[in-house]
Amino acid sequence: MNALIVIDFTNDFVDGSLPVGEPGIQIAPVVARLTEAFASKGEYVVMAVDLHEKGDPYHPETKLFPPHNIRGTQGRELYGELQPVYEKHKEDIYWMDKTRYSAFCGTDLELKLRERGVSEIHLIGVCTDICVLHTAVDAYNKGFKITVYEDAVASFNPAGHEWALGHFSGSLGARVISSSEVLK
Ligand code: ZN
Repeated sequence: MNALIVIDFTNDFVDGSLPVGEPGIQIAPVVARLTEAFASKGEYVVMAVDLHEKGDPYHPETKLFPPHNIRGTQGRELYGELQPVYEKHKEDIYWMDKTRYSAFCGTDLELKLRERGVSEIHLIGVCTDICVLHTAVDAYNKGFKITVYEDAVASFNPAGHEWALGHFSGSLGARVISSSEVLK
């Protein structure tokens, strides 16, 4: 069984306080269409969403990045066309708060995947070279097969984006494909 993990596709990360910017805005329709396709086929869909508390002095990211994805803010809501897709399939999509780059770190994601017999995870969202990368590395170490959609991941750093795509296939054995392979 497959699962789709949609990573950090929120207002703050696309065009808000810690933005990917144009490359993130451009993938928004594909992120929404892939989510719709997986949800309507009854595949397991996880909305993995970064969560921070305002002014948290203990979180390591506080020293690294401006405040982002603060609990209860509009910046933490899903970006663009993804929001109505989420609303439509809310009953079947697992909204999962995460507090580190990897969707596996400090969450019950692995348990949820194993319970459902998921052997392959499909990754979309942002940023290619931070949260998508760290999630892929953990998935690899845990023995999951990985597919990454090159037209549904993006980064503020073009060199980092390109490097990560190469790392997915060259070092993590991932399939790096276009959404056109699943969207008709
Ligand atoms: Zn964060």
